[in-house]
Amino acid sequence: MTELEPLRNTFIQEIIDADREAGRHGGRVHTRFPPEPNGYLHIGHARAICVDFGLAMLNGGLCNLRFDDTNPSKEGTEYVEAIKEDVRWLGFDWGDREYYASDYFEYLYQCAIKLIKKGKAYVCDLSPEEIREYRGTLTEPGRESPYRNRSVEENLDLFQRMRAGEFPDGSRTLRAKIDMASPNLNMRDPVIYRIQRVRHHRTGDEWCIYPMYDFAHPLSDAIEGITHSLCSLEFEDHRPLYEWFLRELEIEDPPQQIEFARLEITHVVTSKRVLRRLVEEGHVSGWDDPRMPTLAGLRRRGYTPKSIRTFVARAGVSKTNATIDIALLEHCVREDLNATAPRVMAVLNPLRVVITNYPEDLVEEFPVENNPEDPAAGHRMVPFSRVIYIERDDFMEDPPKNYFRLAPGREVRLKGAYYIKCEEVVKDPETGEIVELRCTYDPESRGGTTPDGRKVRGTLHWVSAAHAVEAEVRLYDHLFKTADPLEGGDIIANLNPDSLRVLTGCLLEPSVRQAKVGDRFQFLRHGYFCVDRDSTPERLVFNRTVSLKDTWAKLQKA
Ligand code: ATP
Ligand code: MG
Repeated sequence: MTELEPLRNTFIQEIIDADREAGRHGGRVHTRFPPEPNGYLHIGHARAICVDFGLAMLNGGLCNLRFDDTNPSKEGTEYVEAIKEDVRWLGFDWGDREYYASDYFEYLYQCAIKLIKKGKAYVCDLSPEEIREYRGTLTEPGRESPYRNRSVEENLDLFQRMRAGEFPDGSRTLRAKIDMASPNLNMRDPVIYRIQRVRHHRTGDEWCIYPMYDFAHPLSDAIEGITHSLCSLEFEDHRPLYEWFLRELEIEDPPQQIEFARLEITHVVTSKRVLRRLVEEGHVSGWDDPRMPTLAGLRRRGYTPKSIRTFVARAGVSKTNATIDIALLEHCVREDLNATAPRVMAVLNPLRVVITNYPEDLVEEFPVENNPEDPAAGHRMVPFSRVIYIERDDFMEDPPKNYFRLAPGREVRLKGAYYIKCEEVVKDPETGEIVELRCTYDPESRGGTTPDGRKVRGTLHWVSAAHAVEAEVRLYDHLFKTADPLEGGDIIANLNPDSLRVLTGCLLEPSVRQAKVGDRFQFLRHGYFCVDRDSTPERLVFNRTVSLKDTWAKLQKA
């Protein structure tokens, strides 16, 4: 994965190098990617995945996949499976190191007991509202809970009875005993266990108390021998708490947390909560709607895993938040597909053309190159006959000066085939709409050049009517019309009403007939397309991944 090499130039690599030099963690590099299985992974997670797995790879280390499944009411197996599929698709392998925080519930419980015995945790009977109220604010210190000074014996007894299911949900919590006056709110006696009778997707009804994420996370890292616990910036304020747990529990060689900025992209939302809302309210067709920034959506849209890795590496990883232009993501997929996608001719908005001097039953086949960027890709034979279709946009009855395509009396080249000249325009007598062009061809121009060296300014793509494959083509634009989807505060109002345009009756050259779901092509002059899973044996459906116009490349040149 040479595209990940730029990760060597990050501040995280500098820390790893310094650690190795100082002999920390015995020179090991062991990271983990810790998703909560409460939604699908999005492009933001791709940064975390590439950084966690990528830095482990670049440093000869290991990376675990760990599900942080401490909140059973929001989590489920559907998400676990989808996350695994997405990480694998992105090109990463966790070997046999697939772990779950829920596997550590007994260990975590024992850690809690240890804290109680040290006088560092207590059972609190305040309600969730009261706890919030006692917590204070950024400007006011918190107040101590009246239950804070219970004896170790009483705490042990109550905590064991919490586990045994003697108390109703929400009636008691276990809290760390730290400092209600700390300027860091996370240190004001945070809750570490709550009572919640919710079936867990892995442990079933075994537990009615669940550890809080902030307690489970650093200790899960510790059990797994994680050396560098990489996470996004919002956990910076939690680090003192994590370090407190690790210190009080006397963990040897504790993991070192390093925070980096979350990936934000223009026109894109990277919050599972908002993405779920889009799905649940039906603004998109599902988590894998090709307009969604989920990895499942990007995959369906036709993005390649390599293009996403390239994007993440080029966008870089830093300590400060910065929004990346979506044009860079689009540039990366274009660059990859330009090198790899076979070219085909596809007429999205067909106009019938009859070549009046071409024999009725003749079919000729012309070789057309599969990929000019890749000579090894060879060519395919494309059939040509008397009736063809061209793009409606490639004809103008009354063209402006700088229009080099077809017009009455004008001659153009049909790619790889012949020169044709427009002799007559046939219109619907009622509507005036152009329904057909009648053209002649020059038999001397076979293959697209003439012996007399006569030049034409335009080359059009075309499809033989008798051989065409009909398809539906879905064109996409940004899901949000504003660069900042939160602009003005109402994300739904910022949805782009033109984010999906469906074209039916598109006509494609017959080489695509055997295409399978996920196959990618460049449609000449239209962009890159990918076969959608909605395709049937009768009708192919294509998603446009991205158009050919590269605004990023232009920005770089300017
Ligand atoms: P969301 O805010 O979308 O719900 P999350 O952080 O709650 O995301 P997790 O499943 O907890 O989602 O994330 C797993 C890992 O991915 C965490 O380590 C988190 O730091 C990281 N991550 C999540 N979103 C981003 C992002 N936009 N950029 C970089 N890393 C991210
Ligand atoms: Mg999270």
